[in-house]
Amino acid sequence: MAEEVAAAVGELRASFRAGRTRPAEWRAAQLRAIMRMAEEREGDICDALQADLAKPRMESYLHEISLAKAACKFTLKGLKNWMKPEKVPASVTTFPSTAQIVPEPLGVVLVISAWNYPFLLSIEPVIGAIAAGNTVVLKPSDIAPATSALFAKLLPEYVDNSCIKVVEGGVPETTALLEQKWDKIFYTGSGAVGRIVMAAAAKHLTPVSLELGGKCPVVVDSNVDLHTAIKRLAVGKWGCNSGQACIAPDYIITTKSFSPELVDSLKRVLKRFYGEDPLQSEDLSRIVNSNHFRRLTNLIEDKKVAQKIVYGGQTNEKQLKIAPTVLVDVPLDTELMTSEIFGPFLPIVTVDKIEESIEFINARSKPLAAYLFTKDKKLQDEFVSSVSAGGMLVNDVALHLANPYLPFGGVGESGMGSYHGKFSFDCFTHKKAVLIRGFGGEAVARYPPYTAEKQKI
Ligand code: NAD
Repeated sequence: MAEEVAAAVGELRASFRAGRTRPAEWRAAQLRAIMRMAEEREGDICDALQADLAKPRMESYLHEISLAKAACKFTLKGLKNWMKPEKVPASVTTFPSTAQIVPEPLGVVLVISAWNYPFLLSIEPVIGAIAAGNTVVLKPSDIAPATSALFAKLLPEYVDNSCIKVVEGGVPETTALLEQKWDKIFYTGSGAVGRIVMAAAAKHLTPVSLELGGKCPVVVDSNVDLHTAIKRLAVGKWGCNSGQACIAPDYIITTKSFSPELVDSLKRVLKRFYGEDPLQSEDLSRIVNSNHFRRLTNLIEDKKVAQKIVYGGQTNEKQLKIAPTVLVDVPLDTELMTSEIFGPFLPIVTVDKIEESIEFINARSKPLAAYLFTKDKKLQDEFVSSVSAGGMLVNDVALHLANPYLPFGGVGESGMGSYHGKFSFDCFTHKKAVLIRGFGGEAVARYPPYTAEKQKI
């Protein structure tokens, strides 16, 4: 394994050194090929996502394929401009000179991807790496084996295989990859493995982007259009892979007095979305595998948690399905309330005053996303200025990821670095500082001997 990996990296390094990935035309051709792949093989991609997660076709298209195509389009539009050196003002100390920031590719990069959005989370960093002129190895997640196998088959059919490679596998293969020297590692997944990746990268002083997770809070004020808020919240939780999404709402915070109304509204919306027997709904993804199914069911088998269920709770191990489940006032020391849920449970924390939610969030690890539903402008402003999170969205959930002008990434334990839109290009680019001088404009005081006369200046 180690030799195969070393040979692949060696080939990529040779291609990079030969300058193959530098021309804008090469980069654009690869991006167009990826877009063609997403269009021509849409059916195969949907089938793979169905096999890995029973992901509804509509979700596969809206949340993975169309976003990947949009990323290609956006990048193709901006690419030539992004590649241009940026002229910056010259400073008096260097007069006369011209100064510019020259974007240059980092070299040979590794993308390690997660299983929950196995198509988009693999291809979007690869799009950024290619746009920036790097060679790249993609290591898709072994926990989504159908999508991983599809990448291994499709990418070589569409893109330049001397510069872009797929290495499939789990821990041993990723460990072998991490032993190599990379110019950047882009990792999406849990914080636990993120630490392994960062430690491996440190050996070679390789920079990393870590796209991690955490518990994303949703604050729901009583001053809202409740029906719209709950529809958006529900589709952002259960309509995103049954809650197996890094930016899915993890828990709600609302006031004690508003909680009953909110729970009633959630129940109504969930019945409308997924019917009386949600385990039969084809619009709900399944849990990815039996390990995760057991991890999740263990969370609600805890007696302190089980008695707090106000809606749902049904499971079907054979189908790996868990119904949307709402809980109220679960003790805060339970596993459900301390670790990232990454599944279809939505606990509600109640407070006396909505303003207390800010302190509640800030007392915990910084989330990847924080959400607020309110019409109260003052509360919106306070939330935006006081809560630290990778990203933030007011009066909706998850949609901020679809705006390519916004950076997507975490802060603190939810990650480091960001991507999407031009941020993906920047993520895989070194900004080289270049100062060019002529031979005029000599300042005599610069040169020894530093005589008393020179020091008077
Ligand atoms: P994971 O950490 O289990 O796996 C991610 C990748 O790491 C996979 O490719 C896997 O093969 C590899 N891997 C697993 N164990 C490894 C080891 N010991 N050594 C080396 N490589 C290893 O993560 P996951 O379960 O795939 O993803 C879930 C987590 O990812 C959640 O915390 C979620 O919030 C987060 N996530 C974040 C984002 C984001 O964009 N920020 C997106 C999706 C998921």
